[in-house]
Amino acid sequence: MTMPSMLRALLMPLLAVLLPGMAVAATATQDGNPAYVVIQAGELLAVPGEAPKRNQTLVIRGQEVLAVRDGILGAEAVADAAGAPVTVIDLRGHFVMPGLMDVHTHLMWSGADHPPKKADKMTEADLTLWALRNARTKLLAGFTTVREQASAPHPLFALRDWINAGRFLGPRILAAGNPITAPGGHGDMTKEDINPLDIHASNLCSGVEGCRNAVRIQHKMGSDVIKMMATGGFADNTGIDQRFFFDEMQAIVDTAHQLGLIVGTHAYATDAVATAVRAGVDSVEHGFGADDATLRLMKQKGIYLVPTLSVAQQGAIREYREKDRAFERALKIGVPIAFGSDDGGIPHRLSTREFGYMVEAGMSPAAALQAATINAARLLRIDGEAGTLEPGKLADIIAVRRSPLEDVRVLEDVDFVMKSGRVAKQAGQPQATILD
Ligand SMILES: [Zn+2]
Repeated sequence: MTMPSMLRALLMPLLAVLLPGMAVAATATQDGNPAYVVIQAGELLAVPGEAPKRNQTLVIRGQEVLAVRDGILGAEAVADAAGAPVTVIDLRGHFVMPGLMDVHTHLMWSGADHPPKKADKMTEADLTLWALRNARTKLLAGFTTVREQASAPHPLFALRDWINAGRFLGPRILAAGNPITAPGGHGDMTKEDINPLDIHASNLCSGVEGCRNAVRIQHKMGSDVIKMMATGGFADNTGIDQRFFFDEMQAIVDTAHQLGLIVGTHAYATDAVATAVRAGVDSVEHGFGADDATLRLMKQKGIYLVPTLSVAQQGAIREYREKDRAFERALKIGVPIAFGSDDGGIPHRLSTREFGYMVEAGMSPAAALQAATINAARLLRIDGEAGTLEPGKLADIIAVRRSPLEDVRVLEDVDFVMKSGRVAKQAGQPQATILD
């Protein structure tokens, strides 16, 4: 199955599930008919990249956008409700746009926001609860879709599946599970005496056969996307240099693509980024050492750069980013950019600061909004369902009090969040995220 059809297959059963007595958040009535929501938007950016329009009305049926109408309309915007309830939400004082997407997050960590236990005392059960809590923070910050770029697989797959089954309201999660890395590389969590039969070491590989196998095992375990560690990393002091050979990277990419999975590579050093791009990855994460030739090749091949400026605000990583200024050069060259904060390295409640960092580095606010919506959706291959607010798309919607096209930092305080037709935050107030 392709990614969009898989997503649709996961989401379709939800239409039949819902429940009496749900007020604003309802997506269906007791007898299973989808409920209607009418959103009155003072300003609407339905398709990022196009100009926003004043005084628009969104009509939502169940999980999907049914129509976008000119003017401010009330319940009469629903032509034929056939007895289903119609809820009107007044966002006439707001700027309304598609839900945000972060294509580089880690829900199992949260920077300086610590879990209530020390890391070495955390069991998989603790990690599941911690990830659930962080997912809620992420949704309330305005993110309706995330690509989880490596955490403990079982907690994350469980969280993803429970959200998709409609039991928790959270961001749609495309999860990498374990990252594919070389023994001793970034994200190798095993001790020195590694047992190759240990499932937690299934992500370590050397050679073409080994690396094909590692991807197949992650896919079998439930990965939606593949994360590859082309270089070492700062977090575990494994350095910035290349750790896989070209044939190993190519084996990872080709196997993932055969299985219908995209590959995002963590990569710092110049040669490593070049090798990963030549191997055909779908996105380069960080990419701080990328040279112009590689950036031009990324543009030509449609490979996304995921800037993760939020985790490069201090220390050695900041020095490294500022030395080569790859993001600034990528903007000039026209490399496609997808929004990724790498939060987990920083607290999830702060990840919308990435917009300010992107704009400070020279990106226009309009392009930053595209990076977090339509571009992210294209990278994740869910642009058939999400990323814009058009008829037939999922009703993933946020609203802020002023136009982020004038001041992108208003996105640090999102006032309204709807995910798949369900309200998660209204007038700045979180709504219930454990669903009946
Ligand atoms: Zn990361």
